[in-house]
Amino acid sequence: MNIVVIGSGFGGISAAIRCLSKGHKVTIFEKLKKPGGRAFWFEKDGFTFDAGPTVITAPWLFEELFSLFDKKSKDYFQLIKLEPFYKIFFNDRNIFTYSKDSIINEVIKFNVNDADGYREFLKSSKKIFYKGFSLIDKPFITLRSMLKILPDLIKLRADKSVYKFVSEYIQNEYLRRAFSFHPLFIGGNPFKTTSIYVLIHYLEQKWGVWYAMGGTNSIVKGLCKLFTEQGGKIYYDSEVTNILCDKKGRGSRAKGVIINKKEKFEAEVVICNSDIAYTYKNLINREYRKKFTDNKINSYKYSMSLFVIYLGLKRKYDTLPHHSIVFSKSYKELLDDIFTNYKVPEEFSLYIHRPTATDSSIAPEGKDCLYILSPVPNLLSRTNWSTFGEIYKNKILEFLEYTYMPELRENIEIEFFITPEYFRDKLNSYLGSAFSLEPILLQSAYFRPHNRSEDVQNLYFVGAGTHPGAGIPGVISSAKIVERLIENSEES
Ligand SMILES: Cc1cc2nc3c(=O)[nH]c(=O)nc-3n(C[C@H](O)[C@H](O)[C@H](O)COP(=O)(O)OP(=O)(O)OC[C@H]3O[C@@H](n4cnc5c(N)ncnc54)[C@H](O)[C@@H]3O)c2cc1C
Repeated sequence: MNIVVIGSGFGGISAAIRCLSKGHKVTIFEKLKKPGGRAFWFEKDGFTFDAGPTVITAPWLFEELFSLFDKKSKDYFQLIKLEPFYKIFFNDRNIFTYSKDSIINEVIKFNVNDADGYREFLKSSKKIFYKGFSLIDKPFITLRSMLKILPDLIKLRADKSVYKFVSEYIQNEYLRRAFSFHPLFIGGNPFKTTSIYVLIHYLEQKWGVWYAMGGTNSIVKGLCKLFTEQGGKIYYDSEVTNILCDKKGRGSRAKGVIINKKEKFEAEVVICNSDIAYTYKNLINREYRKKFTDNKINSYKYSMSLFVIYLGLKRKYDTLPHHSIVFSKSYKELLDDIFTNYKVPEEFSLYIHRPTATDSSIAPEGKDCLYILSPVPNLLSRTNWSTFGEIYKNKILEFLEYTYMPELRENIEIEFFITPEYFRDKLNSYLGSAFSLEPILLQSAYFRPHNRSEDVQNLYFVGAGTHPGAGIPGVISSAKIVERLIENSEES
């Protein structure tokens, strides 16, 4: 079959590779100049900045893609294990070192009475992992499939939030934060995200946190190389501006795409890695949309956005590890502002990615290359980022200079930032959301837009907005689901 993939994020490239391995003719059209989507990269004056994902988990998911062609990922990129995983800096200068080897000692350092609770938490997280992770590559396109897992979800208490779940095992507030922040990496509020996501804790503890030498972009390049070596075609600067459909019986079906408003490209199957809300609203004519009307799309809850500052520095800040989390004093209130009140909070919590702690190849000698990420509301906040961006950036840099990075501003060689408007304008993300639909229980599995379009035949979805959701492991798994749906080997 002739298959078109719209977009070259991790979900799109993975779907393209999988379909190619089944003998189909596969073409990717990508709006931007380079692949990766959220995992785009910027290169400037000897510095290489990964734009987005940095915490690599579940490396076997990459290996699976290479094995489809009897290849090994190590011949395309090199992954190394990080230890410790993160350092967590609390507002009163307490530091939690989040690792595999000495995590229990850190728990004891904060509260000796939480040691047993932590051990129990790890056991529960393991149980949830083995149930939950097995669902990430299953298509939830029928209600029956959802009903089948309902007893398990009830048993696992999936209705509880991650924070609530953690709090049942752990008393100390610092530790509760340290073990509940993970949903933020996939666009979820720890106070609202289903506790199924505590599986990430076990995933990290058992298989580790990884880094790709050269940056996450080297994984993207490796996957694209595999795809093109095997005969796949990828075109850049090629924005799909319409998905061609026609009526079939009482429904409709996809039959190709229009590129850059002019060129027609026919296909028997169209796979969208483009943002799901944007796709339905802008690429599919209204007459073909029965369920996914504008009202339906507006009724979903979309995840937060991000403000990210990229810095090339004249010196190194060796006191910062590869991954740092900097917590503000408030936690729930800050998250309420971001997720519920759509207000840029007064305080900010930050994630700092400093890959030069591990890899000197991505910056000139003796220099640091890093990004500083602050979760902010999506564009429902109506913040004017073209003016507020500069103010917000200065506030963050001033704070870091005062706390963990002395003389920061005078050591900046390169500086630029992205705001929610980048996600809207560059990546075509509805409301500038950085992770598409929020991962709450009522927007998960069957309740998330399905991997096979409910409105248009021959149209499929991969990526953050469909099941299972955001994060590299999730979007790569969505490609596996789509491959099976196309091959008709799995129906529910
Ligand atoms: C700053 C940041 C940090 C993150 N950190 C992590 C992390 O550490 N670990 C982790 O696992 N996850 C992380 N994530 C989440 C993860 O990066 C994403 O969930 C995942 O990469 C999204 O992949 P995707 O397949 O949905 O595609 P996307 O990356 O969203 O790519 C979609 C592609 O489609 C293209 N496109 C859109 N519209 C069109 C069109 N009309 N025509 C042609 N092309 C189009 C876009 O240009 C883009 O290239 C992070 C995300 C961000 C933003």
